[in-house]
Formats: sequence, C-alpha cells, structure tokens
Amino acid sequence: MSHHLTAGQRALLEAALVQRQHQLDQRLAEHQDGLSRADHARELLQQDSREAPQREEEREIDMALSDIELRELGEVSLALRRLRGEEYGRCRDCDLEIPFDRLKAEPWAKRCLQCEEMRERDPRRAA
Ligand SMILES: [Zn+2]
Repeated sequence: MSHHLTAGQRALLEAALVQRQHQLDQRLAEHQDGLSRADHARELLQQDSREAPQREEEREIDMALSDIELRELGEVSLALRRLRGEEYGRCRDCDLEIPFDRLKAEPWAKRCLQCEEMRERDPRRAA
C-alpha cells in the first residue's frame, strides 16, 4: 500500500513527535516533583498554616498540568506507533488522507480538519 507521505515527511513528523515526547516527559517529571515537594511542604506547614492555602493552590495547578501532559503524552505515543504502521495520516472518521501541512502543525492529529471541527461542534460524537 502506498502512502501519501514521503519518507522524508514521515521522518520529519517522527522527529517532531519524539521531540514532543521528551518535552512532555520532562515537564511531567517537573510537575510530579512539584507535587511531592508540595506534599512535603504541607506536612511541614501543619505547624504554620498561614502559607497552606497557597501551597494547596500550587498543588492543584501541578495536578491539572500533569493530567493534561499525561493525556498529551498518550496521544503522542499512539501517533508514533501509528506512524510506524500504515494507518498514520488517515482521518479516523472519513478515511481521507490528512494533509502534510496539518500533520506538521499537529503530528498527533487523528482526524482531518473538517471532521475535527464537526466533532467540536457536536460533543455527542466524541468517542
Ligand atoms: Zn475526516
């Protein structure tokens, strides 16, 4: 089966995905480190509760960021797996080829722009 992406384009997208994966790994590690530091700080602060609300807030931000990063890391890993197979670069909904320009901007894209927009407009279609 021939593919609409050239070997060079695939290599470029793979490099972008791998780079993103490293970036996310790093940020996730930082936020998880932030979490454990916040936990530790909270224990210490049980004697001094004045700073506690701020620590709590930092902890919540770290947790929210970690969630987003974890989800994105999952998307990136799946995209890398697809890239090594044959189904990468095809829209999951309409099976059309996703243009290279879109993939370049968002290498983990699973759908063409039209289908993506349609899903955003109608959340019931979201899988
Ligand atoms: Zn589509």
